[in-house]
Amino acid sequence: MLDKDIAKVLVSEEEIDAIAKRLGKELTAEYKDKFPIVVGLLKGCVPFMGKLITEMDMHLELGFMDVSSYHGGIESSGDIKITKDLDIPVQGRHVIIAEDIVDTGRTIRVVMDLMLYRGAASVSVVTLLDKPAGRVVSLDPEYIGVTIPKEFVVGYGLDYEEKYRNLPYVGVLKPEVYGSK
Ligand code: 5GP
Repeated sequence: MLDKDIAKVLVSEEEIDAIAKRLGKELTAEYKDKFPIVVGLLKGCVPFMGKLITEMDMHLELGFMDVSSYHGGIESSGDIKITKDLDIPVQGRHVIIAEDIVDTGRTIRVVMDLMLYRGAASVSVVTLLDKPAGRVVSLDPEYIGVTIPKEFVVGYGLDYEEKYRNLPYVGVLKPEVYGSK
């Protein structure tokens, strides 16, 4: 049913499986003796984080935050609001922030700085998708699934008006889907 709204598949289910396996191995090599906290940013992190952690062969702790950006007028104002904070102390801990996509970088920048301010021993970022062309703050995620062009995508956690997060791949919506609102 959801397939009919998709103009093209950008990252297939098979590619996402391979990405999770590759990044899971890299993270295991780096963090296996560090008992890190994997912090997912809701809601977009859910499918990718779920798959990724099953590829991490080590002890880890899970945490979640909900962070929303205000969109004032046409442009995003860049103000970030924490609507659900992490309920684990990060002092002295190694933190891995798990995201669906890094675009402007503002969301991750705020969360990274907060974790460091709270005394995290280290903070790194793992993201399924990276859109470097959209960047407005300096931020280079350490672990990237795939780099994509500056295009609005949905699926695998990413929504359009809260829909399509459960699509099992990442794709681009048909223009008429936006038009039919
Ligand atoms: P940033 O702070 O890096 O600009 O924004 C990250 C957030 O913006 C993501 O977690 C996601 O919610 C949203 N976002 C950025 N690009 C896209 C996109 O192409 N599609 C969707 N659905 N959301 C996006």
